[in-house]
Amino acid sequence: MTDSQEIPVATLGVPRFGRRRELKFALESYWSGTSSAGDLLTTSKALRAASWEEQRDRGVSKIPSNDFSLYDHVLDTAAMVGAVPSRYGWNSGEVPLDIYFAMARGNQGQTEDCGHAGHQEEAHGPGVTAMEMTKWFDTNYHYIVPELDDDQTFALSSSKPVDYFLEAKALGIHTRPVILGPITFLKLAKSPAEGFGPIALLPRLLPVYEQVLQRLKLSGADWVQIDEPALVLDLNPNERAAFEFAYGQLSKAAPELKIMLATYFGSLGDNLETAVSLPLAGLHIDLVRAPEQLETVGRLAPKDLVLSLGLIDGRNVWRANLPAILDRIKPIVAGWPLDRVEIAPSCSMLHVPIDLRMETELDADIRSWLAFAAQKTDELVLLARALSQGRDAVAGALKASAEAAATRVTSTRIHDPLVQGRIASIEDSAKRRESAFGERSRVQAGSLGLPPFPTTTIGSFPQTPQVRKARAAHAKGQLSYVDYETFLKKEIEAAIRWQEEIGLDVLVHGEFERNDMVQHFGEQLSGFALTQHAWVQSYGSRYVRPPIIFGDVSRRNPMTVRWWQFAQSLTEKPVKGMLTGPVTILNWSFVRDDVPRSEACRQIALAIRDEVTDLERSGARMVQIDEAAFREGLPLRQSDWKVYLDWAVECFRIASTGVKDATQIHTHMCYSEFNEIIHAIAGMDADVISIETSRSKMELLDAFTSSKYPNEIGPGVYDIHSPRVPEVGEISDLVMLARERLSDGQLWINPDCGLKTRKWEEVRPALINMVAAARALRQKV
Ligand code: GLN
Ligand code: ZN
Repeated sequence: MTDSQEIPVATLGVPRFGRRRELKFALESYWSGTSSAGDLLTTSKALRAASWEEQRDRGVSKIPSNDFSLYDHVLDTAAMVGAVPSRYGWNSGEVPLDIYFAMARGNQGQTEDCGHAGHQEEAHGPGVTAMEMTKWFDTNYHYIVPELDDDQTFALSSSKPVDYFLEAKALGIHTRPVILGPITFLKLAKSPAEGFGPIALLPRLLPVYEQVLQRLKLSGADWVQIDEPALVLDLNPNERAAFEFAYGQLSKAAPELKIMLATYFGSLGDNLETAVSLPLAGLHIDLVRAPEQLETVGRLAPKDLVLSLGLIDGRNVWRANLPAILDRIKPIVAGWPLDRVEIAPSCSMLHVPIDLRMETELDADIRSWLAFAAQKTDELVLLARALSQGRDAVAGALKASAEAAATRVTSTRIHDPLVQGRIASIEDSAKRRESAFGERSRVQAGSLGLPPFPTTTIGSFPQTPQVRKARAAHAKGQLSYVDYETFLKKEIEAAIRWQEEIGLDVLVHGEFERNDMVQHFGEQLSGFALTQHAWVQSYGSRYVRPPIIFGDVSRRNPMTVRWWQFAQSLTEKPVKGMLTGPVTILNWSFVRDDVPRSEACRQIALAIRDEVTDLERSGARMVQIDEAAFREGLPLRQSDWKVYLDWAVECFRIASTGVKDATQIHTHMCYSEFNEIIHAIAGMDADVISIETSRSKMELLDAFTSSKYPNEIGPGVYDIHSPRVPEVGEISDLVMLARERLSDGQLWINPDCGLKTRKWEEVRPALINMVAAARALRQKV
C-alpha cells in the first residue's frame, strides 16, 4: 500500500474538560450560583473550538463533534430522545439545562463519592433525586443510567448533535458527529417495570434517531460515527436481531449519510458476523484489546466497508511501538485499497489524560515511555502517513518510537530482578492461612475477647476542611513536617478518644493522612509514578488522577505502621491496620502493558503482604485490606470471569495470609451484589468482610448463606451516602433483617463504607445510634 493518497485519521472522541480543567470550574461555579448559564456555555464553546482546532492542526481528518458533553454522553442521549423521567416535570421541547443537571445530580445538587466508587449522594429534603450512575463498561468513567418505563415514548428533544456540527462548521471545520447507538443506549438503560427489557422499545426509539441523522445530513454532514460498544458484550439472539433491524432502518433514513459504526473495549467475538453483515459504510474495531480480529474482520467484511483500525490504546497511557504495529498489520492490509482503511485509537480517548507536555515534574525516562491524548493523536497521524506514503516519509519518528520501546524492555527502572525472583518463588503455602477459618475463629475469639455483634467502622473519618487544608499546606511546603505531624496526631487522638467514649469495640485511626486510598500507596511504592495534571473524567465534574504503574512494584519502607502504632498506643481496644488491597490498587491505576495484569497485581500483593506482616509484628491484632474495586474488575464477557477471579483471589490471599491464626484479617467492599461471584468472595478467606447493604434492605445478603459463606460479615447498617442520621430503631430493624439470613456468631455491626465524605455532625449521632442498637441487641439475646 504505497500511494500518496491520504489515509484518514480519526480520534473517535477526546477529553472534554480542558488542559486546566476549565469545564470543571465553569460547571461548579454555575452550580453554586456564582456564574450564569451563559458563562458556562461560553467556556464550553471555547473548549470545543480549541479541541477541534488542535485536532485539525495535528492532522486529524475525521474530527469528532458531539463527543463533548457538559456532564455525560449517555445522559445527553437520554435528553436527545426525550427520555426524561416524570419526576423532573418536563413535558416537551428542548430539555432545559437545569433539568439536564437535575437528572445528573438531583435538584439540590449534592453529589458525593466515597472515594472512587461513583456513588451518588441521595438528595434529601424537598427536591428530586438524581438518576442512578454506574460504570461505563469496564472503565472508571461513570454514566447516568437511563430510566425507561414500559410505556416510554420518545421525541427529539435536543439539537445538540446538529448544533455542535454547525458550530464547528462555522469555524471552517468539517466534523464527523458522534452519537451513542440505539442498542447500546437501550442496553445500558434500566426499567422500573418488573421483567421489562428496554430493548423492546427499539421500534419506538428509532424514529428519533432517524430524525437526527436526517438533520445532520441536511446540515452538511457526510459521515456520522455511531458508537455501539454493546457489540463486544455477550448478546442474545434477540439483541443481535435488534442490531439488524436498527441498522436496516437507520441506513435508509438518510441514505447519503455514511455510518461508521464504532465498536470498542474488546473483541466482536460471536457478534462478528452480525457486525459485518450490517448495511454500513464503515466499521471500527478495537485492535488493542483484540488484535486477532483484524484478520477475520478483513476477510469477512464486504470489500466496500471502510475499516477503522483501532491501533493506538485509548485506555492506557503508554507510547506505542509504531514500527511493531506496522509490522503486525502489514501482511493483512497489504493488498487492501487505501480507501478501505482509517486509522484510529482503540476507543474514544476520553479515558486518557490530555497532554503529556504538562507533566514537567515527571522523570525523563518515564516520560519518554508515555503518550496522552495529544501524543496519541500524533501517533495516529504517523501510522497513517507510514501506510499511505511509506515508512521513509516518517522514518525519524518511527525510529524514536522504536527506541523508546526498546529502552522499556531493558530499563532497570522497570525491571527489578529481586521482585521477579520473589514472584517466581511464591509457594502455595504463602497463599493460605495456617489453619482453616473454623480454627482461626476459635483462636481469635479467645484472644480478642470481643462482645457478640461487635461494632466497628470502615476506616476513614470526616475529611474536614481543616484536614484537607493542612494536607494541602504541607504538600505545598507551607506547613512544616513537624507541624503537620502534630496536627495529624491531634486528629487521631481525638478520634480514638471519641470512639472509646461512645463504646465502639474495634477502632480505626481515621485515615486523616490519606488523600486517596490508592494514591496514598502509589506515592510510597516503587514502580509507581504520580502525575500533576493527568486527570481523567470519573463522572460529571469529578476527575481522578490514577497513579501509573510503570515497573516492578516493591515496598521501600513500611507505609502505614507508624500511624497505626501511634493510634494503638492510645487505647487498649484493638485498632485495625488499614490498607488498600492489591486488586483495587491495580484497578484504579494505569497499569503497565508489558506484563499481564495478573503479574502486576501479584507484585502489589507481595508489597501489601510485607505491610500486613509488619503491622502484625508491631502488634496489630487486626488488619483490614480494602478491595473496593474487586468486583468492578470483572471482564465484560462472562467467559473471561473465571481467569480474572482466580488471579484476583490469589492476589488477595498473597496479601493477606502471611499472618498467624490469631491475627484477624478484615476486608471491605463497597457493594453487595455477590450472587454470581460468592464462591470467589469466600475463596478470599478474609476472617471478616464488611459490605454495603443498608439501601438494599439486606436482600443482597441472600448470597451469603452460611453454606456458601461461613466467615464473619458486617453488612452495612448505616447509609453513609446520605447526610441523614439513622434512628436506633431503623438500625435495629436492618440488623434483624440481617439476622434472618446470617447466624448471630457471624454478624458485625458497621456502616456501609468509610465516613470521609460526611460531616462530624452527621457521623457522631449516627454512630452513637449504631452502638446503641448493638447494645440493645446484646441485652436481648
Ligand atoms: N477504608 C476506606 C475508608 O474507610 C475504604 C473506602 C472504600 O472502600 N471506598 O474510606
Ligand atoms: Zn466502601
